[in-house]
Amino acid sequence: MGGKGTPVVVGTHPRLFITLTAPSFGAVHTIRDNGSCVARFRSTGSLCVHGRPTSCSRRHTEQDIDLGRPLCEQSFNYRGAVLWNAHASKLWNNTIQLIRRLLAAEGGVGQPNLGTVAQLHYLKVAEVQRRGLAHFHCVLRLDGPESIDVEPPAWATVELLQRVMRTSIERAQAPDVEGRPIRWGRVYDIQDLARREEEAVKVAAYVAKYAAKTTDGSKELARQFRSRRQIVTLVDDPHLQRLALTAWDIGGNTKYKSLRLKEHAHTFGFTGQLITKSRAFSTTFAALRNARTEYMAGERDGDPVEGTFHFEGRGYDDPRGTQLAELFFTFERELKAEARARERAKSEDSPS
Ligand SMILES: [Zn+2]
Ligand SMILES: [Zn+2]
Repeated sequence: MGGKGTPVVVGTHPRLFITLTAPSFGAVHTIRDNGSCVARFRSTGSLCVHGRPTSCSRRHTEQDIDLGRPLCEQSFNYRGAVLWNAHASKLWNNTIQLIRRLLAAEGGVGQPNLGTVAQLHYLKVAEVQRRGLAHFHCVLRLDGPESIDVEPPAWATVELLQRVMRTSIERAQAPDVEGRPIRWGRVYDIQDLARREEEAVKVAAYVAKYAAKTTDGSKELARQFRSRRQIVTLVDDPHLQRLALTAWDIGGNTKYKSLRLKEHAHTFGFTGQLITKSRAFSTTFAALRNARTEYMAGERDGDPVEGTFHFEGRGYDDPRGTQLAELFFTFERELKAEARARERAKSEDSPS
């Protein structure tokens, strides 16, 4: 299969869809797979020391304002949540470094020479959950050395990549300002994207459904705050307001100056980019527009795709979600287009 100059091998390269989340900083209301909220404190009594119920078994709707809010605000670790957000990008960078180091070791080379045996490419999307904590979605692909057209070495299987991912997620850490380790939460998810053809479509549907521009869908959290008073007057949700205020207040402490928390109070301390990718995971805007048209056309034809991913967070419909969906949806196609372009360039270069 595949015409002349179309690399068929790219579709067989190991590739994963990964979701990384923050640890818990206090039980929050959520919708689980069975539809009910199972939020609870680790507590033996039915009330916490502040007199709040320690568990919830209600069935929340998507519109429920309680979603993402703590069972007890006084028990929620706001400071911990904001500081985790502030270090999440560093934690991500350290995780990628660890993945590269482990892959290089598998290939029998040192980390700086990973490129001589295999290449790791990724596309990452960051999102702030309703509970106010950042989490990450990532498509990760292992290619052969030198070019994405080159088959990865025999040892670079999807099973190995999964194992390396699990180890990296569980081991990776980033020191906070005081030198304490920041780590990923216990809830993470690794999906083999090659296992089923429709998986890529599920990823697209998933991201379209969950990705949100701001945590509560409002304009207030879309830009920087200029004053503490502005946070109090603009942010209605008590949980999100307290997160933003915590970031603002910690940001006033010279010890945390480097975290630039006041500038990032609207993202509750998170300083990262929404979308980042490794160099070879390029996407042109023209490709995005074309893919969008095809994606929309395809969606009208079929049933809505049910995702198989299970997470705490709930996002809101937002145009940016569609953009992200396109990014994921086209990642396969764009590779082929790039390869074709290179083929063309090669044949133009060669003397006739
Ligand atoms: Zn609940
Ligand atoms: Zn309490």
